[in-house]
Amino acid sequence: MAYKILSSITIMSQEKVLIIGSGPAGYTAAIYAARANLSPVVFTGAQPGGQLMITTDVENYPGFTDGIMGPQLMVTFQKQAERFGTRVFYEEVTNVSFNKESGAHLVKTDEQEIEAQSVIISTGASAKWLNLPSEQRLNGKGVSACAICDGYFFKDQDVAVVGGGDSAMEEASYLAKLCKKVYLLVRRDQLRASQIMQKRVLNTKNIELLWNTELEEVLGEDKVSGIRVINNVSQKTTEIDLQGLFIAIGHQPNTGIFKGQIDMDNAGYIQTAPDSTKTNIKGVFACGDAQDKIYRQAITAAGTGCMAALEAEHYIASL
Ligand code: NDP
Repeated sequence: MAYKILSSITIMSQEKVLIIGSGPAGYTAAIYAARANLSPVVFTGAQPGGQLMITTDVENYPGFTDGIMGPQLMVTFQKQAERFGTRVFYEEVTNVSFNKESGAHLVKTDEQEIEAQSVIISTGASAKWLNLPSEQRLNGKGVSACAICDGYFFKDQDVAVVGGGDSAMEEASYLAKLCKKVYLLVRRDQLRASQIMQKRVLNTKNIELLWNTELEEVLGEDKVSGIRVINNVSQKTTEIDLQGLFIAIGHQPNTGIFKGQIDMDNAGYIQTAPDSTKTNIKGVFACGDAQDKIYRQAITAAGTGCMAALEAEHYIASL
């Protein structure tokens, strides 16, 4: 491969397939593109392996009778992609310049600038926050969005989880094994989570569900000492002493760097043609959670990653 130095950036001339993001979508795209002899490159982004790296047991990914730990699954994905010649760079893409006319797309990181015939966007999604000033102030000082990362800090202590979806159930179940007590703050009078995950939570003795309950403020100066919540039916506020707070209210797509360059919806999900990963830019494909706001599963992300690689392969063959 030819490299030339231009100021402090190394230019790597011409890649056929450049994949941005390293979750199930990105690595599946890489496996397929590599096996089609397209020698793909993957830029992992700031969280190599994506969201499954901060998950515990993955029980719904087919092929693993007893489930598998998220990080272990992602290491396996990466090794499989590398086995067929995928090159993985632990770098974050900082800028893209998609070319509607020529189909030669420029992608930059802090260390290199690459011209790619096709780009596969698989940048995934990130945790959402409530955006309360107290939540932001105490972030990392008792407020977290990842029980597996931070749960251990609250061993034998009291914590709360905000949310009513599968993520919140997973966080609460994980924390219940470590902590003395887990309060689950649900803003409605029902959960959004799947039946099996609901059941697990409802049957766990040290999880207390607080229905119709919203977080008003996180209490504490330098670290969390409690929360003030409001019951949105009775309007009654209550203070609860606890040491940790976990926000699990969903995710937003990591598509900021593509803004203005590619069609996306109001929430920032990249728009693709029906039954396809094709975007409105020739040679640019989008897959996984960056494009899917409905299913958002590892297996569906992997499925659309496969589609993106096959579509990129057809596109390159047509040039
Ligand atoms: P969801 O969008 O499914 O759920 C978000 C939850 O947070 C909802 O209960 C929502 O309440 C609540 N919420 C949103 N905003 C606020 C707010 N401002 N204040 C209080 N509560 C709020 O996101 P998840 O991350 O839970 O799940 C995403 C997808 O990933 C789902 O398809 C899920 O099945 C899947 N998943 C699967 C897992 C597994 O199988 N092991 C584990 C984790 C996720 P409301 O219901 O009122 O809108």
